[in-house]
Amino acid sequence: MSKATGGPEIERLVQLLGRLPGLGYRSARKAALALLKKRNELLLPLAAALNDAAAKLVECPRCGNIDTVSPCCVCQDPTRDRTLIVVVEEIGDLWALERAHVINAVYHVLGGHLSPLDGVGPERLNIPRLIDRAREPEVKEILLALNATVEGQSTAHYLTEQLAGTGVTVSRLAQGVPIGGELDYLDEGTLAAAIKARRRL
Ligand SMILES: [Zn+2]
Repeated sequence: MSKATGGPEIERLVQLLGRLPGLGYRSARKAALALLKKRNELLLPLAAALNDAAAKLVECPRCGNIDTVSPCCVCQDPTRDRTLIVVVEEIGDLWALERAHVINAVYHVLGGHLSPLDGVGPERLNIPRLIDRAREPEVKEILLALNATVEGQSTAHYLTEQLAGTGVTVSRLAQGVPIGGELDYLDEGTLAAAIKARRRL
């Protein structure tokens, strides 16, 4: 067992930082050290920011996005085209599309994809609310911006069937998304091409 380099509070900080994606124990130690050395400029503001976010975090009752206001900032934005709902698997996908500035619509976050092998059936996803939203008179099109994975595509297929009776146009991403590709990792150009070349189902 390795010796502790600091008191229990510092060890705990390193352990927690090490659980962040992309940060191993080594990087976590570096990050912790940077925080400790910059107590006033970094550590205290970060602690306050984490506290604020933790206290206010809510899931948007409309789209499933996570934000500190409810409904979320995207749903509240009056400049968005509400006739188009972009369906994504995860919040990271929503963030990726927003970063790319390629579409000015509203979203619906499923919270994953269908995966019978892992026991994820339709009841585990945010699907009933999507069907409800599809029936709202202002909604004209639903774009299924799901990952080009087997699970993503079978989820798209399932949703297309479920949405068939609602009267909206259902479209999906076409060119640009590579087979096996995940939206969160694509560059803006690829995302833009995929949005532009979406096709009706
Ligand atoms: Zn929302």
